[in-house]
Amino acid sequence: MEGYTKQRSICLLQNKDIFEYDIRSLLYAFFPQIKIIIGEKEHTPILKLEFLNGACEGWLFEEGKTIANQTTECDLEDKDTGRNQVKRMVYNLLVAYTGRKLAWGTLTGIRPVKIASHLYEQQMKEQEIISHFMETYLTSEQKARLCYQVAKKEDEILKAVPYHNQYSLYVGIPFCPSRCLYCSFTSYPISLYEGKVEDYLQALFKEIEFVKQVYKNKVLTSIYIGGGTPTSLSAPQLERLLDHLNRCFDLNEIQEITVEAGRPDSITRDKLKVLSKYKDIRISINPQTMNQKTLDLIGRKHTIEQVEQTFYIARELGFSNINMDMIVGLMGESLSDIEHTLKKLKRLNPDSLTVHSLAIKRAANLNIKMEEYKDYITGTTNEMLELVDQFAGEMGLSPYYLYRQKNIPGNLENIGYAKEGKACLYNILIMEEKQSIVAVGAGGATKLVDAEKGLITRVENVKDVDNYITRIDEMIGRKKESM
Ligand code: SF4
Repeated sequence: MEGYTKQRSICLLQNKDIFEYDIRSLLYAFFPQIKIIIGEKEHTPILKLEFLNGACEGWLFEEGKTIANQTTECDLEDKDTGRNQVKRMVYNLLVAYTGRKLAWGTLTGIRPVKIASHLYEQQMKEQEIISHFMETYLTSEQKARLCYQVAKKEDEILKAVPYHNQYSLYVGIPFCPSRCLYCSFTSYPISLYEGKVEDYLQALFKEIEFVKQVYKNKVLTSIYIGGGTPTSLSAPQLERLLDHLNRCFDLNEIQEITVEAGRPDSITRDKLKVLSKYKDIRISINPQTMNQKTLDLIGRKHTIEQVEQTFYIARELGFSNINMDMIVGLMGESLSDIEHTLKKLKRLNPDSLTVHSLAIKRAANLNIKMEEYKDYITGTTNEMLELVDQFAGEMGLSPYYLYRQKNIPGNLENIGYAKEGKACLYNILIMEEKQSIVAVGAGGATKLVDAEKGLITRVENVKDVDNYITRIDEMIGRKKESM
């Protein structure tokens, strides 16, 4: 992908320090690994902005020549309007420079649907919302329509749930069978940590107990058990975890429980039997790709057959809400590889499909070993996501949540599709920051939402398993101060 693997630099010159964060974000959207230099440097392209008398003029210079030049009004009284005016101008300069347009236009934030939801709540019509996105943020019509569809779906789902003044719980199990090449989560190989799992569970149970006590007058909407890979635990350990949660919260009373079983090489019939004791647990069985050569390359030590067998066992045991995750833009995968994955998934017929665009995070081995893998990185293209959308439609799935991440080659999105009635409520609640999510376990990041004041307070647990175990009282103390 142009600009991704090639390390490049650009100079940024501004006569006033205005909207610098937004301009940087746009530069990263065009060139995810670019180095931005404040000031001039020889033989480096220059983006120059001059703010004067309610206007802004921008230039792009390369080797002393003007490549592009634009002027825009810039309303500094109304920061949002001014910001959008300048972002559109910078975007147009970068389009002129690269010859490329971005499907998301000037939008660089991770929650574009929030904008559509806000307009939808104000009774704006579909076409008005789409036009707003295309004119204000220069998005493609397809992305504008997608945001509208997701906002409408979210509204429909949330209207049926009394989520206000309730909360959700995230339970982190930070162990995995092995570490995937692209992983940036808190994840430790279970084979090396087996001896610590019992102590980890004891600390976790103590933290869960604390949440139950503090929020004894609040209703729990949903529980999401993620990680890591929760099914890295043995069947008896998983059973004790669910028993403990059940004693604290009565699992049959909760709107939704998800267990991100995740890696097929960690899922067994016994573990699925443990999960099937509780009503309608939503599980996730994640192949990421149905191409064995890619699975081998990304360090997921399981086979395509394991994915299929696990899925069939889950169906046989009565699981009626199974999600599957796939990643688009995996190393070396072309459009036909993605089509192959989609055809295989279509045959399995999951209830929801979560599609991630490959993100290359700083902590991932993929980033650390970039030299080794850079020739395999193709990036996610819009064509790939359009193919996913087409298959999702054929599978009876429609988009219900969407978010973007930084460092996605291609600057695209992650999107959740589901059959009617099978959408994951927790995903919407966390993404749209609609209610407090209390996170327990190593690496857990609690977000306390005060909707009235429009405030969000974050409380983080330590990521390291040993630290989490020995400092559990401190983790509880941190929560006590804010909850
Ligand atoms: S299964 Fe998920 S959490 Fe575990 S190593 Fe792979 S990407 Fe990371």
